[in-house]
Amino acid sequence: MIVDVHVHVFPSLKETAGYSDVQSNYAVHQGKIRRLWARMKTNTLDERYIPDPNEDVGFRMDDYGKFHWTKHGKECWMQRFPAVLKNMEWTPEQMVAFMDEVGVDKGIIQSGYMEMNFERDYIAEVTGKWPDRFIGTVTLDYDVEKGSEHLKGEIEKLRRAAANPAVKGVYQVFPRGQAIESSDFDPLWRELSNLGLPHFFFVGFQPKDNYLYLLKQIETVLTKFPDLIGIIGHLGGNIRPLSNCDYTDGKELLPVLRLPNAYFEVGYVLAYENWALWKENYEYPYPLHTKLIKMLYDDVGCERLLWGSDMPNLYRTCTYRQCLDLVRLHFDFLGDDEKDLILGGNAARIFCLKS
Ligand SMILES: [Zn+2]
Repeated sequence: MIVDVHVHVFPSLKETAGYSDVQSNYAVHQGKIRRLWARMKTNTLDERYIPDPNEDVGFRMDDYGKFHWTKHGKECWMQRFPAVLKNMEWTPEQMVAFMDEVGVDKGIIQSGYMEMNFERDYIAEVTGKWPDRFIGTVTLDYDVEKGSEHLKGEIEKLRRAAANPAVKGVYQVFPRGQAIESSDFDPLWRELSNLGLPHFFFVGFQPKDNYLYLLKQIETVLTKFPDLIGIIGHLGGNIRPLSNCDYTDGKELLPVLRLPNAYFEVGYVLAYENWALWKENYEYPYPLHTKLIKMLYDDVGCERLLWGSDMPNLYRTCTYRQCLDLVRLHFDFLGDDEKDLILGGNAARIFCLKS
């Protein structure tokens, strides 16, 4: 059984996506452009054209994955989603068609791109309609600054979502920068442990010190809650060229991954998507990706590695079949049984999947 632990499905992002109006939805996307700058392709790399959150720059989306805005008199764009998107949507029907085409049996939907309450209903609907093909994750607003009543409400939402047998995990349920190792978070980690729901952590795409600190916090949490399964997504996500001040060599991941309840997502080659930064390392089959995975494999073994494509975003770099073939054809340091574990066996075990 081949399981992709990182897929997305979403309704048209040109609509409200569950926010009160289209403008509120657009504001969320505009606010993230600075964080995404120089990773995704843009028609300029000059930072003075980055729109500030809430700045009136006439932000809009087109049919083929691009964000557009106007700043200092210049028409700017970012290829935020791949050009295969029509009407800024990625339907479950499209996702299933791509899974069928390359032979992927199940996709784990990682949360994202929608207002989170709306999204829980959307994912419940999709997993209800395709129970054999999709597994859902949910996200929460476990923001300790909002007080204990709010947190109780979020735990209640988690319990309700988890009553759906197709929901088998959660994706990054807390805002960045909070003390996740403090007792404020114990009820959350305890509940996830009791429910048997793995947590996908989003640790990268931030300054190195913050990234390293978050890894330390996760190590503390996973040590304190040995029944909680933690998955580091997006290759850790702080992949930077050697010359960048935020560069790390990947060894910082080892203290977390050596814990028996920690897992790592393989296949996020979008880390290397921008030619302007990566030059020859931008080319399939992504030698730096192979080097990182081999280093982790040599240290913690193949049982902790889970293949995930980040479809449809993957199409900003390579095809779905190529992403699968990274493991199948290009990881020559692995035996066939080990490849099977990474491509589905490990996911089947930790998400309790039936074939
Ligand atoms: Zn994703």
